[in-house]
Amino acid sequence: MTAPTSIKVRSLSKWFGSWRALQGVSVDIEGGACTVLCGPSGSGKSTFLRCLNGLEEWQTGEIEIGGIAVGDQPRALTRLRRDVGMVFQSFNLFPHLSVLDNVTLAPRRLLHRRRKDAEEQAMRLLQRVGVARQADKLPAGLSGGQKQRVAIARALAMEPKVLLFDEPTSALDPESVKEVLDVMIELAKGGTTMVVVTHEMGFARRVASRVLFMDKGRIVETAEPEAFFTCPCSERAKSFLADIG
Ligand code: ADP
Ligand code: MG
Repeated sequence: MTAPTSIKVRSLSKWFGSWRALQGVSVDIEGGACTVLCGPSGSGKSTFLRCLNGLEEWQTGEIEIGGIAVGDQPRALTRLRRDVGMVFQSFNLFPHLSVLDNVTLAPRRLLHRRRKDAEEQAMRLLQRVGVARQADKLPAGLSGGQKQRVAIARALAMEPKVLLFDEPTSALDPESVKEVLDVMIELAKGGTTMVVVTHEMGFARRVASRVLFMDKGRIVETAEPEAFFTCPCSERAKSFLADIG
């Protein structure tokens, strides 16, 4: 078994025009563990995740994933996108493709898997997240929770070393939230390196090894979940928790 993939970020800054969305973020993210990232809206959480998988360019600072520096060279970027999967709040499934084809597309195109092999793997993954019976449907025929579980299966099909989740349950009804969190809890137990932007404290308490609290483009607090939720250090984290609680 290969060692779990850790992430090292140093002095990462990102500007949108003259607006500095990330203000020198430095953090070590443990491999094989689940890290929860939370913070107020607009604090830079999505921008940070998007930098981690190369969806966003940054201006200064360094990111290392599994000990390999991530630059903007095209080859490094291709590899990064293959190794780092992402699950979005709004699912981002391809609407014109069946559930099965959504899951097999990237392995066939990028990993050159044969259709039969890709479909067998996809069915195993759909089974694992509990939506195998939806394989032939289009995404529009699924509930939100089912769509998000398909999106997770699709990310897993690339056998990523790191999985990023950007508010994966924020667009879901309460029943679907539980379905999706249950799948994520199983994944976390399996030892995938996960970074999850969420305000689901129950999830964080159960599976996160660390909570990172972000405010105004900086990580201002790093703590174990229990300590963070019961007794946050910073005033900003206290008022944030009062707002969401
Ligand atoms: P969060 O995910 O914590 O809500 P974001 O990372 O989405 O925060 O945004 C951080 C800041 O960067 C916000 O002020 C937001 O308006 C700004 N921002 C995000 N994306 C863009 C963009 N593409 N162009 C300009 N500003 C952006
Ligand atoms: Mg966001």
